[in-house]
Amino acid sequence: MSLPIEINDMEPEFKALVLDRVPTANLDLCLTCGTCTAGCPASELFEMDPRKLVRMVVLGLDEEIAKTPWAWVCTMCTRCVNACPMKVDIPKLVYNMRAGWPREKRPKGILGSCDMHIRAGNAMGVPTEDFIWTVEDVAEEIQMTDPRFKDMQVSVDRPGAYYAINQNSREPVTEPDELAPLWKILHAVGADWTYPSVMWGGENYCLFLADDEGWRYILEEFVYHIDNTLKCPVVVNTE
Ligand code: SF4
Ligand code: SF4
Repeated sequence: MSLPIEINDMEPEFKALVLDRVPTANLDLCLTCGTCTAGCPASELFEMDPRKLVRMVVLGLDEEIAKTPWAWVCTMCTRCVNACPMKVDIPKLVYNMRAGWPREKRPKGILGSCDMHIRAGNAMGVPTEDFIWTVEDVAEEIQMTDPRFKDMQVSVDRPGAYYAINQNSREPVTEPDELAPLWKILHAVGADWTYPSVMWGGENYCLFLADDEGWRYILEEFVYHIDNTLKCPVVVNTE
């Protein structure tokens, strides 16, 4: 049986840190109603749930909060905050828990995907020329075999297109045919679009890693390319 935790003299420093970064987190407004916990897919994993977490934060159990691996099983689905009568922002609380972990100790899968995106422009590490080749190959096959799409426009880095659209990098590697349904819809509605060749991966593992710096770098590269090379007025984030 675990020993009771002494809460006398504890200063809720982590709560103060989160409220400083997220003034709308509403941590002190929790009614302990449990609505968040009832709908949370991560409830009871690692003997934790969102209501319990908020109580621990308010009580100042900072050491336990910093150690719990539960920070990495919350899916950040936001179901809790949407259901919460007091709008306690548990996903942003969890984000700050993650940010408190030493970077090298964060889960390897998410860490590797974030780092790969920073290096290669997408989490799967697809070289840009392979991405372009796959896109053109799949598009050509559809244009040649389905008369309804013989004029379908699919491009990478076409300057002046109205929409710049990103793409989850798993499809070009594992299921290239799955690229096509979106193209067909865009063709059917007459959309003027292109993929960018820079930071074209739509996934965002740096968000899940709580790596603000990596996340910012990816977005800045992406936005710079769109603004200065392609000059597309609208970006569509498909993820
Ligand atoms: S739903 Fe909101 S108010 Fe209710 S226990 Fe969860 S965080 Fe607290
Ligand atoms: S965001 Fe996290 S805590 Fe909230 S419902 Fe989803 S998994 Fe649970």
